[in-house]
Amino acid sequence: MTKSFRTLDDASVSGKRVLLRVDLNVPMEHGKVTDATRIERVLHTIREISKKGGKVILLAHFGRPKGGPDEANSLRPVAAAVAEHLQQPVAFAADCIGEVAAKAIAAMKDGDVLLLENTRFHKGEEKNDPAFVDELARLGDLYVNDAFSAAHRAHASTEGIAHKLPAFAGRAMQAELEALGKALESPKRPLVAIVGGAKISSKLDLLGNLVAKVDALVIGGGMANTFLNAQGLPVGKSLCEKDLAETARAIMAKAQETRCAILLPVDAMVAFHFAANAPSHDYGVDAIPDGGMMLDIGQLSVDRIKASINEAATVVWNGPLGAFELAGFEHGTYQLARHVAERTKAGKLVSVAGGGDTVAALNGAGVAHDFTYVSTAGGAFLEWMEGKALPGVEALRR
Ligand code: AMP
Repeated sequence: MTKSFRTLDDASVSGKRVLLRVDLNVPMEHGKVTDATRIERVLHTIREISKKGGKVILLAHFGRPKGGPDEANSLRPVAAAVAEHLQQPVAFAADCIGEVAAKAIAAMKDGDVLLLENTRFHKGEEKNDPAFVDELARLGDLYVNDAFSAAHRAHASTEGIAHKLPAFAGRAMQAELEALGKALESPKRPLVAIVGGAKISSKLDLLGNLVAKVDALVIGGGMANTFLNAQGLPVGKSLCEKDLAETARAIMAKAQETRCAILLPVDAMVAFHFAANAPSHDYGVDAIPDGGMMLDIGQLSVDRIKASINEAATVVWNGPLGAFELAGFEHGTYQLARHVAERTKAGKLVSVAGGGDTVAALNGAGVAHDFTYVSTAGGAFLEWMEGKALPGVEALRR
């Protein structure tokens, strides 16, 4: 899979000005980074280029500035955080193009690291404006992209520039592409997908693509209710998109054509209040009481899904199977997360998961580190799971 992409193995960086696109869109409070996961992910690539004698020029966006510089969205405090994690000085330039950037780069020695100000301070970034792309490209000899999480956007610093300079995948990007390739492009079968979350309306493309690719599709969470309702089952006051019953039936019909087994819950934990620790009972899905809400899958469903995971060689997962943020309704998601983790540790399973809520759920279950790969890229991971080409990734193909 990665053989189809240019990586750092193909690049000669010594003495070169290397424009390295990273994702430094980290959460901040009062000028301090509160979660450094994204910084940690790109340290390998920064160190490797620096050790090989390249000049590392970091390109990144931050927040959603309204087309001009503003203090609140400056990357300046992030430079200090990167330096701290890297244990190496990181210089900062107050603009990502023009005189200011050029001067800062001219002052660099081989192996130095410099962070350029927020690319989104220029309108040309999100417009992928050729003039802005040229301004960026002028600053470097080659381009390395280590920001998979920004690769679903065709912006100047994620896509445009890759057509102007020799372009390569950084190590974090490479790891992500390798893991995702193993999960959906050339997976060991049987391949089981687990999809949960609130609504099917936000995941129609996802379900459509998975039904065509996987051997079994496990559906849980609020979206399962829409499928149950489409089969004529009572859903009480559960979250349910009744207007999408026809769509849900079409997905099931397609699954039959592609010989993809669909596993819906057979029982659910039902409560009468959407609240933590609300009293709840396990009901069969043919007997959901009128005012009740299905807030988690039931134990029978958990056991059926575990059995399906036992048959699988590969599992890909997006979305919690219940309202896991509410104490009392996390058990279905957590039990399955732990089961996937155990099978993975035992060498029986390749497991890939991604998406914001999913990562939070795996962390809650304490098993995020036991999966083969966990992608922290929200939008990009979903678009990849939907089978869409990511512009920033496509631009790195050989
Ligand atoms: P998504 O962003 O589509 O992955 O949805 C995640 C959200 O779905 C989480 O906040 C869950 O609490 C919610 N969710 C999952 N299952 C249910 C359910 N059965 N009823 C209501 N909300 C749910």
